[in-house]
Amino acid sequence: MTMLLNKVLRAGVRCGIRLQSSSTATASATASSSSPAPSLGFSFELTDQQKEFQQLARRFAREEIIPVAPAYDKSGEYPFPIIKKAWELGLVNGHIPQEYGGMGLSIFDSCLITEELAYGCTGMQTAMEANSLGQMPVIIAGSDAQKKKYLGRLTEEPLMCAYCVTEPGAGSDVAGIKTRAVKMGDEYVVNGQKMWITNGGKANWYFLLARTNSDPKCPASKAFTGFIVDADTPGVQIGRKEMNMGQRCSDTRGITFEDVRIPKENVLIGEGSGFKIAMGAFDNTRPPVAAGATGLAQRALDEATSYALERKTFGKVIAEHQAVSFLLAEMAMKVELARMAYQRAAWEVDQGRRNTYYASIAKAFAGDIANQVASDAVQVFGGNGFNSEYPVEKLMRDAKIYQIYEGTAQIQRLIIAREHLGRAKK
Ligand SMILES: Cc1cc2nc3c(=O)[nH]c(=O)nc-3n(C[C@H](O)[C@H](O)[C@H](O)COP(=O)(O)OP(=O)(O)OC[C@H]3O[C@@H](n4cnc5c(N)ncnc54)[C@H](O)[C@@H]3O)c2cc1C
Repeated sequence: MTMLLNKVLRAGVRCGIRLQSSSTATASATASSSSPAPSLGFSFELTDQQKEFQQLARRFAREEIIPVAPAYDKSGEYPFPIIKKAWELGLVNGHIPQEYGGMGLSIFDSCLITEELAYGCTGMQTAMEANSLGQMPVIIAGSDAQKKKYLGRLTEEPLMCAYCVTEPGAGSDVAGIKTRAVKMGDEYVVNGQKMWITNGGKANWYFLLARTNSDPKCPASKAFTGFIVDADTPGVQIGRKEMNMGQRCSDTRGITFEDVRIPKENVLIGEGSGFKIAMGAFDNTRPPVAAGATGLAQRALDEATSYALERKTFGKVIAEHQAVSFLLAEMAMKVELARMAYQRAAWEVDQGRRNTYYASIAKAFAGDIANQVASDAVQVFGGNGFNSEYPVEKLMRDAKIYQIYEGTAQIQRLIIAREHLGRAKK
């Protein structure tokens, strides 16, 4: 951890960012890490350490991501050089616990970094965030040996991992997945097909959810098992890169598992525990997804504001037309509220509390407003907004996925309603 943090500090200095001495920084990073911080009452103030990480990520987004993002969007090429630089700075995999070589950042701290990276390009942020999603089942449910082997690997080299759950026939309805794992001696043999897997073609290993109980009456809470699968295991067949509407440099693929043999040591917790692990990961990963959507919305607001202060019609800058300034005001309201929502959701889970309700509120709200704000930014740009020479049409395309992956906008509302009514009935 100290090594990684020192790397961050050194890299920060290279970026010209003012940082504390490494011993102070190490101490405060430790204080703001995995163990819940003592409750200090209500405060919007970030710690010095959090401000430094935020500044580092902000600088990285401005200097390294924004200049190259349009080219990656056009080519669809995977942004590995950028991911590698982010990894070297400690901006990826931040929440891997210190005992496995990570920095043990809280979800809140990781979200601050995610928002800044997303400001630069959400295609790149999604590629990096998919690592968190792939790792989370191992972080919350892995044995010490599994964590050492698979999380440790990601801190030693800039490797990717992926979360392999959705199938062509089942996305929202996770319990409908058909991939089967059958126990044979000390191994499980897996057959099935996964779809829409972010980092699918770049991952070193996958978290895989498969059905292990063939009885259709078996409840989801017992029917599925979570596995860690090395990507180079014979029988893992990686599909073509999908050409998506937005976030085009992120790598999304189908993956087929044909007689893939997985050692029983790679089962998470035990047979039948997979559904809870796969769903439990979302309480930790939905706040960062919401942070990503907020970063995109902030970028759209900033781009629209700069443009509105320059573009003139009818003898004045368009920001002076009340209709445009009110549009900007609405956009600003949405961005501020989305930020508060993800920060609350992240803070709740960092306190060790069940945050499902807040995580879904944050994910649904930030996903929706990212779309509204990006669309409004296009409106402020007028004809230029519709053109790929200007930055906002990319934002509008990139925003859509936030209402789809990690639980659609509709599924979030199902969860919020269930949680809300559950409380009301109590
Ligand atoms: C770019 C991209 C990246 C992705 N990355 C990953 C990944 O890394 N790993 C992974 O496992 N998956 C990934 N996914 C899959 C994603 O999580 C699913 O696409 C998503 O959960 C929706 O599932 P579906 O596509 O099967 O849609 P469906 O479940 O078929 O839903 C279709 C529509 O019906 C609505 N709907 C469904 N059920 C209900 C209901 N009960 N009530 C109301 N409305 C409902 C949905 O909201 C949606 O509007 C990714 C998808 C994309 C496009």
